[in-house]
Amino acid sequence: MNPFKKNVVKSFRAAKQDITRLQQEIVRISTENKELKNAIASIQKEVFALSTQKQPVPPVAPSDPHFVASNTGEKFHQSNCPFASNIKKGNRTYFPNAKAARDAGYKACNCVN
Ligand SMILES: [Zn+2]
Repeated sequence: MNPFKKNVVKSFRAAKQDITRLQQEIVRISTENKELKNAIASIQKEVFALSTQKQPVPPVAPSDPHFVASNTGEKFHQSNCPFASNIKKGNRTYFPNAKAARDAGYKACNCVN
């Protein structure tokens, strides 16, 4: 074997080793890629869960416009109606809107537009 052939054989061996190492690297990277994809998927799930979490509905503050009826009466009033303030606190039923009060069977007082 002349020196030139020897060098060619040596070069091919080196190239083969490089290819083997590259293949191993590819396997390692694709494994890592799979792990990352799984991590991304679980993060996306968490983000989705967070974004769809129900925001708690704040209770209607007494100063907010709302409607009030007496448990013993037939009509509902705006909270600032004088009749509303005549209703005993223990008998008051609050409604967030007029429709809710009507649905509960109450009629609107003249104070309700
Ligand atoms: Zn009224």
